[in-house]
Order: sequence, then structure tokens, then C-alpha cells
Amino acid sequence: MKTIDTFDKQFQTDAECKAFLAEARWPHGVHCPRCDRKEKIYTLKARPFHWVCKNADCGGKNGYRFSILTKTIFQDTKIPLVLWFKVGYLMLVAKKGVSALQLHRVIFGEHSGSDYRTTWYMCHRWRSAMHGDVLPLTGEVEVDETYVGGKDKNRHKSKRIGITGGAGKVAVIGAIARKGMVIAKAIERADAATLQRFVHETVADDVSLVATDEAAGYRGLKKQGIPHQSVSHNKGEYVRGNVHTANLDSFWSLFKRGIIGSFHHVSKAYLPLYLNEFSYRHNMRKNPNAFAELLTTRSR
Ligand SMILES: [Zn+2]
Repeated sequence: MKTIDTFDKQFQTDAECKAFLAEARWPHGVHCPRCDRKEKIYTLKARPFHWVCKNADCGGKNGYRFSILTKTIFQDTKIPLVLWFKVGYLMLVAKKGVSALQLHRVIFGEHSGSDYRTTWYMCHRWRSAMHGDVLPLTGEVEVDETYVGGKDKNRHKSKRIGITGGAGKVAVIGAIARKGMVIAKAIERADAATLQRFVHETVADDVSLVATDEAAGYRGLKKQGIPHQSVSHNKGEYVRGNVHTANLDSFWSLFKRGIIGSFHHVSKAYLPLYLNEFSYRHNMRKNPNAFAELLTTRSR
């Protein structure tokens, strides 16, 4: 991807941002964000990047007015798009994650009077758009669950079935294809039903291997037709041939260092957004059009 200097040169005005956004959203011509049609869409000449849709579903003759920002994370914003773009791009290229405070300093400087909460809000809106369809995972897939928050020293003990971690800890589960995508999400309980449901939702029918540790919750997958193999971390076994969870371990440690290093406290409510961010960055790491594609997702 581009360096931030090149990026800054490309996006110096809001009009440049809007033109890029329009091309990313509607490469084959403007579509109505409400009825999704491209016929009967008329440019509002007095208002750049505004249109009116006159399809029957959208009120016919009176029409439905929309702008380039309608139904994007920028809808109704008073913050210049140049700032939005810069924040989103820096988040996308920061391999280890970047906190709103760091971004705020980069963008506004140490001594600016501008409101840190504005940057924080932009970061959260971007995270809400950082999702994509990566399923199903194929080939060799690692699955593992971990706990976020609280102290980590009892991790292996806490991974025992039925124990959902100490106070303040949140269970998360992830799957990573050795040659591709990662998916991670917060779960209420790390019980067998939840772990196994996650595996079935995540991997393709023709997956060649599902590698986990010895957690009891994964037992039974073989009987359900999943090519499951495990290593016994409790017995000091971390790798047996191609059976290991090393890639997912790396992802979890990057994630934990990122949120611990950058954020003093990640509340349970926001954890899915941080999982979005770290997964999306991993999944887009080799995609030169990552930023343009990010602009086309909708917030959830
Ligand atoms: Zn319409």
C-alpha cells in the first residue's frame, strides 16, 4: 500500500475524497442507496455529489435525495473527509494497531486544542466498517479460544471446559487458515456447543485439517466429519507435524499487545470492534486496494 505521504498528496481536499469514494462505491455508475437502481438517477447540479432518485420505490416524481455520504460511516458528519480518510488509512496500515490517542497526536499535533473524542469516534466508526466475508475457511485451519482482559497467567487453567475466565475476562474464539484469512469473535461461554458450532460455521466442507489444542470442547468434532487433530499443550506438545496453532497464537499475541499497549481498558462492549480491526488488517494485508474496499463496506 501507499506511504502516508503519497496518500496525503492524493487526498488534499474533500472533493478529492468524495470523487474517490464515488468511484469506490459505484464503479459502474451511481446507484441509489435506498432502492439500489441506477436508472432514473439525476445529478443535483447546484449541489456537488448529490443526486435524486425518481424510481417509484423512492417516491417517483418527488424523488429521494441522497449524497455520496448517504449510508456510509461518514453520513451526517461535520468532520472533514480528509481527516476521516487519514485516520482510516493509518489504522489500516498500522501492523500492530494504533490507538486513538496516537492518531490524534499524529493528526492534530501534541498541543492542539481539538477534541480527542472526535478522533476516538472516527476510529470506532472505521472499526464498525472493518468486516468482510471471509468464510468459509479452507485447507489447513487452526482454531483456538483465548481470554482477553484481566491477568493472563492462568490461561491454560482457565481454558478448561466450563470455566469462562476470571472476573473481567472475555472469551474470544478464532480460526485462521494457514494460507489466508482469520476470523475472530467474542463468545459468551467457551463450552463444547459454542466451540463446535463455531468450527462448523467457519470451515468449508472440504477443509483438510482443523488443528486445536487439547481443550475438551473440541472432542467429538471427528465424529461430526471434521478432520480434527489436536496437540496437548498441557503435556508440553506444541507441534506434531502440521498439527499446531502457532499462526493463531501469533495473531492473539499481536491482538493482546495491541489492545493492552494502546488502550488502558477495552470494555466488553467494544471488544468485537477491536477484533474486527485486527482481523480486517490481517485479511487485507496483501490487498493493494484495501482502502478502496473498506470504503464500500457498511457499518454494522
Ligand atoms: Zn431509489
